[in-house]
Amino acid sequence: MEIAIIGGGASGMMAALSARKDNGIVTVYEKNDRVGKKILMTGNGKCNFSNLDFSADCFRSDSKRDLGVFFERFNVEDTIAFFEEQGMLIKNRDDYLYPASGQAATVLDILRFACEKAGVVIKTEEEVRKIVKKNEKFHVETKKEKKTFDKVILACGSKAGPKAITSGSGYLFAKSFGHRVTEPVPALVQLRCAEAFFKQIAGVRTDCELTLFISGKKCQKERGELQLTDYGISGIPVFQFSRFASKALKERKNVKVTMNFLPDFTKEAYNEFIHKRYQVKKGECAEEFFLGITNKKIMQLFIKMAALKPEEVITDDNREKWEKVFYLLQNFEVQVTEANPFENAQVSAGGVCMDEVSENLESLLVPGLFFAGELLDVDGRCGGYNLQWAWTSGYLAGKGKK
Ligand SMILES: Cc1cc2nc3c(=O)[nH]c(=O)nc-3n(C[C@H](O)[C@H](O)[C@H](O)COP(=O)(O)OP(=O)(O)OC[C@H]3O[C@@H](n4cnc5c(N)ncnc54)[C@H](O)[C@@H]3O)c2cc1C
Repeated sequence: MEIAIIGGGASGMMAALSARKDNGIVTVYEKNDRVGKKILMTGNGKCNFSNLDFSADCFRSDSKRDLGVFFERFNVEDTIAFFEEQGMLIKNRDDYLYPASGQAATVLDILRFACEKAGVVIKTEEEVRKIVKKNEKFHVETKKEKKTFDKVILACGSKAGPKAITSGSGYLFAKSFGHRVTEPVPALVQLRCAEAFFKQIAGVRTDCELTLFISGKKCQKERGELQLTDYGISGIPVFQFSRFASKALKERKNVKVTMNFLPDFTKEAYNEFIHKRYQVKKGECAEEFFLGITNKKIMQLFIKMAALKPEEVITDDNREKWEKVFYLLQNFEVQVTEANPFENAQVSAGGVCMDEVSENLESLLVPGLFFAGELLDVDGRCGGYNLQWAWTSGYLAGKGKK
């Protein structure tokens, strides 16, 4: 059986290896000058390729499809076994899995050499421009050649990442075969906010609990290192809920985020803390009174927002103002206006509708057409889950009907 794989990324290479195991004659078409360019960027160049803290809940999709059925057939253990078989040592950092070399290039090289050894034909700088199905065969066309295949796997990725190495062509191919595509939006991405004060607090990195509100309704809570930029909010906790914010903004819904800079206090403990602090430190100026509670830039902003002057002495007379500072520390609210564009995003949320594919990721509309990777409407949390989806979906699409 002759199989064409469109896209030599993580999912495409895994699909190629899996298809070769079943003796398929496999050609991978890659538009870039080399395969797997995005892999090199992952995990800040270290490639967080999977995660032991795993469940189907780590993935999102607009379809109601049970994604667990895919991971039952190729899961984290299978991924580990695959890379270990190829000789890769693995580093486990609190369940986040990396190549022990600390280099994303190791993961890419492993895939490249495995493809070479398995006899996969890789054609780089060959962008597929047209795919049509006629008389049970797929006719695949690039600028250089026209070839006929029995099976095609679309593994073209998404628009997320630097423009030079991404493409939206997979969506167009899927649509040309009659598939529904949920409009992709940037995910695992920074959020831009309306407030002018961000310039004052840019550069702050601090532990924080953030809650996303969409149209006034609590949507998701995340905790981790918040990073403040001159335009808004970033960092892992922001990335984790950014896909919901991104989708809501696209639908012109109101998106707000509240931040709790002191998430370890219970309500009672916080009230007691405030009471004690006042008893001990009343009479000090605001700057001194609030010293040491959280990041200085944050504190300075909150003092200003409460209409206190840094040199103003804290007394009963200005109770309303200093109580507002304590309130802000646990209830700081910002208005989200935009998600950063695809170039800044790690993945996209949306893609080929999961209701129209089989458990092998074969099209339910066009037999012989398969999908793999981020092109499908599945996006994972930050933490190695998106690459795990690439390995799982690539493996299943490559394996095909069996
Ligand atoms: C900065 C960054 C960091 C990330 N870090 C992590 C991480 O640490 N862990 C994690 O799990 N995930 C991470 N991700 C996400 C992860 O990289 C992707 O989810 C994954 O690579 C998707 O694999 P894919 O095979 O679906 O797509 P891709 O890897 O994007 O591959 C698709 C390939 O298809 C090619 N192509 C497209 N159209 C055509 C065409 N018409 N003809 C020929 N070739 C074509 C493209 O050039 C591309 O090489 C990160 C992403 C980014 C951008």
